[in-house]
Amino acid sequence: MAKQTIRDIDWNGKRALVRVDFNVPLENGRITDDTRIRAALPTIQYLLDQNASVVLMSHLGRPKKKVVDSLRLAPIAQHLSNLIDQPVKSIPVTTGADATAAVQTLQPKDVLILENTRFDPREEANDQSMAQELAELGDVYVNDAFGAAHRAHASTEGVAHLLPAVSGFLMEKELAELGSLLADPERPFIAIIGGAKISDKIGVITNLLGMVDTLLIGGGMANTFLLAQGVAIGDSLAEPDAVNQVHEILSLVGNSRAELLLPTDCVIADAMDANARKNIVNIHAVPAGWRILDIGPETVATFGSKIHGAKTVLWNGPMGYFEAAPFAEGTRGIAQALAESTARTVVGGGDSVAAIEQMNLADKVTHISTGGGASLELLEGRVLPGVAALNDKS
Ligand code: ADP
Ligand code: MG
Repeated sequence: MAKQTIRDIDWNGKRALVRVDFNVPLENGRITDDTRIRAALPTIQYLLDQNASVVLMSHLGRPKKKVVDSLRLAPIAQHLSNLIDQPVKSIPVTTGADATAAVQTLQPKDVLILENTRFDPREEANDQSMAQELAELGDVYVNDAFGAAHRAHASTEGVAHLLPAVSGFLMEKELAELGSLLADPERPFIAIIGGAKISDKIGVITNLLGMVDTLLIGGGMANTFLLAQGVAIGDSLAEPDAVNQVHEILSLVGNSRAELLLPTDCVIADAMDANARKNIVNIHAVPAGWRILDIGPETVATFGSKIHGAKTVLWNGPMGYFEAAPFAEGTRGIAQALAESTARTVVGGGDSVAAIEQMNLADKVTHISTGGGASLELLEGRVLPGVAALNDKS
């Protein structure tokens, strides 16, 4: 069911209580990547243009239910102020009398940011009293924090039941891109799944098998498939405990429309180290003591030709230990195939997004999902609590 958006509200003179995801990486108090802040700007700007006042709330880092000075939002307010070229007030509390007093001074087109929601132990407990206190700070609730929508917290879920609740533009776009991919993909629809561990993505793989035409598996997780098939993988990263689940997946493949492809060659090394000795071998020729750290060129070519033949492509998870340049070629090859493809191409997952950005190919794909955990849960077919709580379009 589609959700109401900020376009469905008459904002004139109203106070918007907006949950954003300003959980940006910091180093010594400096913001090292402000992508998440920029991603919320269209929503903030629209609300200001519509003559609303804007009360922002976000979590930052993992303060573990107490105040941590280095995780205060005042520096974020300053950064946002520079981006939107107007003052952004910040206050050192999230709710309570001081917060209420502060929001009451706001004029239309003013922006205020509340303190880190996770300083309050009630946030992650989705405590009703905190949701109630937050609800008093706005007339309408806006959720633009797609990256936090898989969490049922007071600021992402609880408060949505207490005010008219709509999605912001970022949330709307993420749901539209990932939703249409899953609901009605143009075929052939192929998914490339990689990353370190199969156990993180069993749910995603199982759900996708019911939808895709082809599933390409690479990265560390392919090793557990190989292990299940009795292929010798030396010292490669693998999860023997997940072999039974792999057998279940393989039997699902037998009963589904989908074909599943594993790597046929690989880059091996004698240590997980950029300076290790390396070699390219057939997948059945991994010597004892060596480990698989990337897919090989033959696999890149096979996967690439599948990508070129597809109309819809989903990619989640790097194909190898891409953080080290000698083992980044497989991931680069897949990123390049997506970039060259005319299909609808969607990339989700923290490390895969980092990889495609590092390779300067992010602007060549249809959609980059900003929410790692949230996009994985959507791909598992789960309902995100922060989305479910928003008002349905009538
Ligand atoms: P994403 O964040 O895109 O969902 P994951 O978190 O599941 O991806 O996995 C990313 C990690 O997997 C990276 O740190 C990468 O180095 C690691 N990885 C991928 N392939 C291998 C491999 N063959 N051996 C060891 N680590 C691997
Ligand atoms: Mg990751």
